Amino acid sequence: MSTADADVTVPDTPGPDGRPGELTTGRVARVGDIEVRRLLPLRHRRSVGAWCFVDHYGPTSVDGVAGMQVPPHPHIGLQTVTWLLDGNVLHRDSLGSEQMIRPGQLNLMTAGRGIAHSEESPDEHDPRLHGVQLWLALPEAQRQVPPAFEHHPELPSAGLAGFEITVFAGSLAGAQSPATVFSPVVGARLHAGRDTRAQLGLDPGFEHVIFMVTGTGEAAGTALAPGSLLYLPPGRDQVTLAAAGGAGLFLLGGTPLNQPVVMWWNFVGTTPEDIIDAARDWSQGGRFGEIPGYQGKPLPAPSLDAVRLRR
Ligand code: MN
Repeated sequence: MSTADADVTVPDTPGPDGRPGELTTGRVARVGDIEVRRLLPLRHRRSVGAWCFVDHYGPTSVDGVAGMQVPPHPHIGLQTVTWLLDGNVLHRDSLGSEQMIRPGQLNLMTAGRGIAHSEESPDEHDPRLHGVQLWLALPEAQRQVPPAFEHHPELPSAGLAGFEITVFAGSLAGAQSPATVFSPVVGARLHAGRDTRAQLGLDPGFEHVIFMVTGTGEAAGTALAPGSLLYLPPGRDQVTLAAAGGAGLFLLGGTPLNQPVVMWWNFVGTTPEDIIDAARDWSQGGRFGEIPGYQGKPLPAPSLDAVRLRR
């Protein structure tokens, strides 16, 4: 997915309020015709572990309409993590990958030094669409890795009380994802098959965020519903989770990223020059390549205010 905005503006949020975590409310943004809840980045928190972007969209009807239509656009310096809870989306990229994704599967695209991709509801698509789009910032030492794409049709899961835990990045509750990541992170989806409460073990070196995608729940004593994000600082070796039957939530975490995160449009860099160079290369062609099989025009980059970016 593409941020679609001229730059990544972020919601105003309260600071720590004495609770065990910090609850923030995402802002509503649009990606093409799809409305998204943008939960990360926050003005005061650019990343949680290496997770630097969290969009949650739907559930929404795409019956009889085009649905998700994100034309070719470039990325650098990040991995995109695509996860659907309902529906189907076709990914194409400049490596020649063409992959339909469905619920429970993982599309993981490593941009490295540069890649372009498109994401679209296929002509004959499911009537519903519900998913998350996440970005992992690449550590400085791996920012220039060659681009790559992985599709994982099946991922490991674990049971905990009434929760089914599917691990798509790192490891949790004894399950380990096969996905290639470049820093210590965890990413998991938890589904409550019934009203349930459980203590989930965490890596105390990690900071975490938790957000609901369906239904209501509670984490570390804070009530949660879709659209809000609970941040938990490092130093915690467990969290108490509760959820109503049928509810779903995500847990993301990692070792705090010890580097600047400069984010503009679909680029993640550590300096403004990373971004300025990538924007120039997208407009001039070359670095990012073409997407075989895509009919239509690529997305132009918005105009870049280098002075503002350097601030
Ligand atoms: Mn994208």
